[in-house]
Amino acid sequence: MSYAPKRADFSIPVRINLYSDTQTRPSRAMKEAMMEAEMGDEQGGSDPSVWALCDYAAALLGKEAAMFLPSGTMCNQVAIATHCRPGDEILAHEDAHIQSSEAGGPGAISGVLIRGLPGDRGIFDAEALRAAIRPISRYSPAQTLVEVEQTANKGGGACWSVDGLRAVADVAHAHGMQVHMDGARLMNAAVALGAPASEIAAPCDTVWLDFTKGLGAPLGAVLAGSEAFIGEAWRWKQRLGGSMRQGGMNAAACLYSLQHNIPRLAEDHANAAVLARGMAQIPGITVEAPETNLVFFDTRGTGLTVPEFAARLRPHGVTVSTTDTYRGRACLHLDVSAAQVEEAVSIMRRVLAA
Ligand SMILES: *Cc1c(COP(=O)(O)O)cnc(C)c1O
Repeated sequence: MSYAPKRADFSIPVRINLYSDTQTRPSRAMKEAMMEAEMGDEQGGSDPSVWALCDYAAALLGKEAAMFLPSGTMCNQVAIATHCRPGDEILAHEDAHIQSSEAGGPGAISGVLIRGLPGDRGIFDAEALRAAIRPISRYSPAQTLVEVEQTANKGGGACWSVDGLRAVADVAHAHGMQVHMDGARLMNAAVALGAPASEIAAPCDTVWLDFTKGLGAPLGAVLAGSEAFIGEAWRWKQRLGGSMRQGGMNAAACLYSLQHNIPRLAEDHANAAVLARGMAQIPGITVEAPETNLVFFDTRGTGLTVPEFAARLRPHGVTVSTTDTYRGRACLHLDVSAAQVEEAVSIMRRVLAA
């Protein structure tokens, strides 16, 4: 078994990339910001561009301090390792990214268990959390962390409301647990809810956001929390190889994305709504109503699996991704225009009629 990714077929260009909002390319202006970045030694504390990014991100998220990391996955792993001890239990939605998509990292790195909670669209409520709290005894794992995903990826890009977060965090804190937010798409939620990121993150002790999703930067994520937490987390950043050297070039791209690419996320949400409406009119396809930039659809009624559907789209330069045999995902981001959404729908209609 090889776990290496298959080399892409470069002979057929991808023109309309609905596969993932991670596949955006840095714009010319972003690259210029990278070229002009002042740099130093990130792990030695002397890279001014990384400090500028961390200060800006901490303020945006309403936290005391932040650290720059290469990926969102590493943000989750560093946060979990810092919050928990081996044998602890994390409470998270059963479809959480930390559960399904991080190669068992919480178990392998931190020695923790994850208990999956039920809830519609990747979101659980205070009742579900309360029901999962174990009596404190020598038999039970210590429950130390509640994890929430904003937006809920496999939940269709659904947003946690600020009230829902507060209610869950109140229960967690009343039981001595910390709350960690996987904010891979937190800025999409902030735009969709019309609420500042700091208000959304306020009920959570730690939060991170990804620069390589809809924000359009080539690399990086930022983890924020109290000064004491970030101070403690630095040992895990170092241990996992997440401390960088001339990180400033990438930090400059990330800072550029925060300063220029947030309001335009609304365009992605509008495009997602148009794509969803268009796809819903194609015979055999059903669509989950999008809340942000992710459009999940079901191909069962067409008689095709998602990989079969995707294979028909690929020669036309359109890509979508597979979540399950019949459940697929199309992502909107800054490299897909409104006109391309219309074109993608007509290509989908055509390949299914053929
Ligand atoms: C993409 C994603 C991650 C991981 O982020 P990377 O930067 O790709 O490592 C974590 N959680 C969620 C919800 C995501 O969508």
